[in-house]
Amino acid sequence: MNKSVVIVGAGLAGCLLAVYLARAGWTVDLRERRGDPRARGHAAGRSINLAISARGLKALRRAGLEETILRNAIRMPGRMIHSRAGAQEFHKYSRDPSHAIQSVSRSALNLALLEAAAAEKNVGITFHQRCVEVAAASGTVMFIDDNTQHTSSAVADLIVGADGAYSALRGIMQKNEGFDYSQKWLGHGYKEMQIQPVTSGAHAPFAMNPNALHIWPRGASMMIALPNPDGSFTCTLFWPHSGSGSFAEISGAANGRAHFQRDYADALPLMPTFDADFDANPVGSMLTVRCNPWSQGGRVVLLGDAAHAIVPFFGQGANASFEDCESLTDALAAHGDNIAAAISAYELDRKRNADAIAEMALTNFVEMRDKTASRIFKWKKKLDHFLHGVAPNLFTPLYDMVSFSTIPYADALAKSHEQVRYFVFFMMCFTLIIRFVLRPVGLDSVISLTLMLVVMFIAFKWSNKWANKWLKEWLNRRKI
Ligand code: FAD
Repeated sequence: MNKSVVIVGAGLAGCLLAVYLARAGWTVDLRERRGDPRARGHAAGRSINLAISARGLKALRRAGLEETILRNAIRMPGRMIHSRAGAQEFHKYSRDPSHAIQSVSRSALNLALLEAAAAEKNVGITFHQRCVEVAAASGTVMFIDDNTQHTSSAVADLIVGADGAYSALRGIMQKNEGFDYSQKWLGHGYKEMQIQPVTSGAHAPFAMNPNALHIWPRGASMMIALPNPDGSFTCTLFWPHSGSGSFAEISGAANGRAHFQRDYADALPLMPTFDADFDANPVGSMLTVRCNPWSQGGRVVLLGDAAHAIVPFFGQGANASFEDCESLTDALAAHGDNIAAAISAYELDRKRNADAIAEMALTNFVEMRDKTASRIFKWKKKLDHFLHGVAPNLFTPLYDMVSFSTIPYADALAKSHEQVRYFVFFMMCFTLIIRFVLRPVGLDSVISLTLMLVVMFIAFKWSNKWANKWLKEWLNRRKI
């Protein structure tokens, strides 16, 4: 049977899903609220670049697009930490030198995916189509053409809401009984700035080393910069919306400049368009969206940010959305004509993983803006890499599992908790052995006490709430 799908939203996930389903024999009706990006070029001033890693690359490979995307991508095998004094320190992401995240232009990625979808003969793409209503029982979606105000409808076997963090389709589903929904706004917003290419210097045309994700960690705030192929860097300021050091307090280019002189002094001379960027570029907001179920009537289903918008601090929103596309395509192939069963299988697979990456992304914000500047963080990373080197089958750092593997997010998170548990257990056994061995020479108590303190310190400092909770409970149980 030839099956039909309406995909609402021709963003990153909507386009990739259109490619997959068209190649699986579906008739695809892809509708997008905005105009055709092929006609208007990249949106100026909002050129967010994205970090794409193993999961996203795997999904692009499946669509035959990995090579195209990597052609203009820039490898970032680690973070470059900028101190207030302007010193730079490189921290590699992984022990394996072949591991790197890739900086790609969001608009170029979207364009490549859109062109791939348009090249499929059974894909129809219509622009300026804003989804306004859906009837799951009849499989009907209503659209308004934002140019002409004409209303149209589309009927299909499957309707996919890939319409992003502020999904209209999700908004419609929210009116249904039994639909759980929560959104949590981050107290921080973001603003993009530019570091321009240079004509001379060690990294020309780049003003700084392009093979790193640059971070200026400043406690409650931070700035990051990702390289672009033209030699520029897109910087993103993550500041609180209000209060001390906020976008509300530091408004206007003159105040922005003064703040930069203090906190980001090494970056300011590299930003000749600072005043224009600071004044003109808007402050964006970030939120975490959780909802359940992701589907309605066995026929309408959410995917990508529409199902699970997350904050961008693990660089996984698009990667996770691409994994959704793979999961839904596989479930539809596995369940034949039973679309409702396929949707259930997809939700079962993806919901727990979306919840896990949402949690990890929030935790990583604190790590990036605060912990990356500390010596303890550096030593923890060194310890992570050391343990991975000596026992690769027993210990894999969480960052490696998330960014350089396709282990499901929920399994990666569970495994990292388990690793901490084993590490603490191992160190305690080690302490007891040392105590036993050194007892004859009378050094046992001092050394074992010191080791015990070190173990407890590491456990508490480990950026892992679970370890802290477990250790606290353990100490409580023993009334220590
Ligand atoms: P979108 O890409 O948002 O696409 C949704 C589409 O639906 C849009 O084209 C929109 O116009 C259309 N639409 C909306 N409403 C309607 C409607 N009513 N009718 C029809 N069409 C509609 N992810 C990473 O993996 N790595 C990163 O480094 C990274 N960095 C980020 C940095 C920032 C500052 C932000 C904000 C996000 C970042 N992300 C990153 C997340 C990533 O951008 C998203 O997860 C990804 O774009 C989600 O894809 P999507 O297709 O679900 O949604």
